[in-house]
Amino acid sequence: MKVKKVAKKVAKKMARKIAKPATPKAKSPKVKAVLLPHLRERWPRTRAERKARAAEYYKRLSATYPDAHCALDHEDPYQLLVATILSAQCTDKRVNIVTPGLFKHYPSATQMADAEREELETEIKSTGFFRSKTKSLLGMAHALVARHGGKVPDTMEELTELPGVGRKTANVILGNAFNKNVGIVVDTHVTRLSERLGLTRETDAVKIEEDLMPLFPSEQWTMVSHLLIEHGRAICVARAPRCEICPLNDICPSSRV
Ligand code: SF4
Repeated sequence: MKVKKVAKKVAKKMARKIAKPATPKAKSPKVKAVLLPHLRERWPRTRAERKARAAEYYKRLSATYPDAHCALDHEDPYQLLVATILSAQCTDKRVNIVTPGLFKHYPSATQMADAEREELETEIKSTGFFRSKTKSLLGMAHALVARHGGKVPDTMEELTELPGVGRKTANVILGNAFNKNVGIVVDTHVTRLSERLGLTRETDAVKIEEDLMPLFPSEQWTMVSHLLIEHGRAICVARAPRCEICPLNDICPSSRV
């Protein structure tokens, strides 16, 4: 009698299992992608797919941000170089508050090279990391005077030989002060959006740039970073992207809607 009861119970359990197979809970985005085929389908897999997707992103973002431009106020390559060095780990808004007074005191690389270290430190203190930035500004100004007659050079090689100037800063100067598309500026917004949009799986800025460059025509390189930065500030923000109002939400592989 007892054996019959147990057998009945087991049979019931088996029947339930067959009728309703267990589904994994959608905890991580990875599992979510497995469960929602429409999200999985949105990931561009081949180079050709990524290229086509990049063109569509560019088209839509250009229409959304027709005035996208460099947010650092400047009137010449020297001012942009100073502002870009100051913008490390600092908002463009804060840099734009500091630079008008700075450019008044040091209107050229020659005057900047003669600046008193303490005075310069005080003037740029609010942008953070002011000691290392002062060192970079003075080193950069001395190098411009010594090697380039006080003028900012317009090649990647010469720019990246200046103290405090890396590839990212050089790309900013070349694209915005000299209208030369030599590379793509990869900052925190470009890094985050490139990954969310399925254009790269890299995390290193140089490798991300290498992934992005073949996806866009070279004449778009400077604008690509302006558009991604604008979108990263306005909608695809770091913590809670506003996918519900995003113009890319029907093609973005990371969309939450
Ligand atoms: S859909 Fe969402 S994750 Fe994708 S780009 Fe737009 S805001 Fe960012």
